[in-house]
Amino acid sequence: MKLRWSLLLASLLVLGITLGVMAVAFLLILQTRPAPPSPTYQRLAALALSVDVPGIARRAVMQEELGQVATERDVRVLLVDLRRSVVTYDSAGYFQPGAAIDLQADVYTLPSPLQRGTFTTTNGVFGSFRDASRDQNWLFVALEVVRSGFAANAVVFADEQGQQSLQEALIDFADVLLPLLCQAGVVGGVIALLLSDAISRTIARPLQSVALAAAGMAAGNYNERAPVAGPPEVRAVANAFNEMGAQVQTTQKAQQDFLANVSHDLKTPLTSIQGYSQAIMDGAASNPVAAAQIIHEEAARLNRMVVELTDLARLQAGRMSMHWSPVDMAQLTSAIAERLQIMAQEKYITMQVDARPVGEVSGDGDRLAQVLTNLISNAIKYTPPGGKVWVATRMGDSGINIIIKDTGVGIAPQDLGRIFERFYQVDKARGPRRGTGLGLAIVNEIVQAHGGRITAMSEGEGKGSTFTVWLPTPQASTVIRRR
Ligand code: ADP
Repeated sequence: MKLRWSLLLASLLVLGITLGVMAVAFLLILQTRPAPPSPTYQRLAALALSVDVPGIARRAVMQEELGQVATERDVRVLLVDLRRSVVTYDSAGYFQPGAAIDLQADVYTLPSPLQRGTFTTTNGVFGSFRDASRDQNWLFVALEVVRSGFAANAVVFADEQGQQSLQEALIDFADVLLPLLCQAGVVGGVIALLLSDAISRTIARPLQSVALAAAGMAAGNYNERAPVAGPPEVRAVANAFNEMGAQVQTTQKAQQDFLANVSHDLKTPLTSIQGYSQAIMDGAASNPVAAAQIIHEEAARLNRMVVELTDLARLQAGRMSMHWSPVDMAQLTSAIAERLQIMAQEKYITMQVDARPVGEVSGDGDRLAQVLTNLISNAIKYTPPGGKVWVATRMGDSGINIIIKDTGVGIAPQDLGRIFERFYQVDKARGPRRGTGLGLAIVNEIVQAHGGRITAMSEGEGKGSTFTVWLPTPQASTVIRRR
């Protein structure tokens, strides 16, 4: 269902419920109201007309006769002394003779069919009185009677005023309130229609634009952005969509770069393998053994690249299984440096190791060894003969630092931020490339998987480089470690 119709339906439902609750509340109020007096007045008036009150008043047994009328007609009859406002007779016996009574006259005109005979407003009075001892309200018709020459007494026919019945309340409701409620319903309905239309415009339009942009992106247009408009929630959706779009675009670009790099880096060794093997086959190679050596090295490099790429993909996807155990970093650092001493000596590089005891970290020993091997062999690789490499361990800020410093070729400031990217190599054209450009990307991933970080510093080209690996100590590592 369209948003607009849902909104309209919801508004109408709320309107209906509100009016319904109001109607029920009114009905309840109406029902607890005292019953309207007019039906009782009419009944009492008809009764009074059918009784020969003046006749009874003239006779000596007046009270007895009034008592008879009360029983026969099922009505309360009182005789009241109007001058003193006291009851002289009460057929119900609630008022004792001589008890005070306060008759409250009411302005009421009988409907015309009843206005006949002796009963007129001049001698017939309608009204009510309270019977305080019983907490009752009584409605009455009083007829003045002439006795002993002066009119000072009244015969009072009375009936208790009850509460309004549900039926009467319903009639009242239908007469007075229902038309009002219907009018309110119509006005409310029109307002709901206009409002739902306005709201659906402000919500649905911007949402439609987001949907359009999403469809565009699904069709491959990654530049697609949604206009940020409408209420805050819809703007948040548009913003989130745009951010997602930007990320998809970046990922897409990274993917393309990655593919370009992989194909380029695979192509170079493959070309040289093809060239040298062709030369051997054609008998054109002056030194077939040397050519075979190159083919062997290039194949080894290809192999290394495939292994490193697989490692990197696994690390980045979080699928590399790590075997966590306590690792003594001073011991590990000395062992790796020891292993690489030969490589340093071959290049006439002095390697100094200052592995101070720094305690254990929680990590994967093999992966941490891979990190150290990579960093130390890089230091040796990028340091000219006669240079120095310094490897040390130190206690650091809630963790430990492993520092690998060399006096080598250094790294230019513009390259420092990029050397941890996949395939990034400083000055690719410089000399025969033996590396893959993947080593530092893998190192970075492994260090991060341990909850640590790696930083590279260099004063500039030709001024040596310093790589520092920070690893959290076990207490901190449980909190920081990624996996
Ligand atoms: P590679 O296989 O090329 O060594 P790495 O990812 O290990 O790849 O390193 C990326 C680049 O960072 C290298 O090509 C090199 O230019 C630079 N680099 C790494 N370590 C050092 C260092 N100790 N001194 C100078 N440059 C370095």
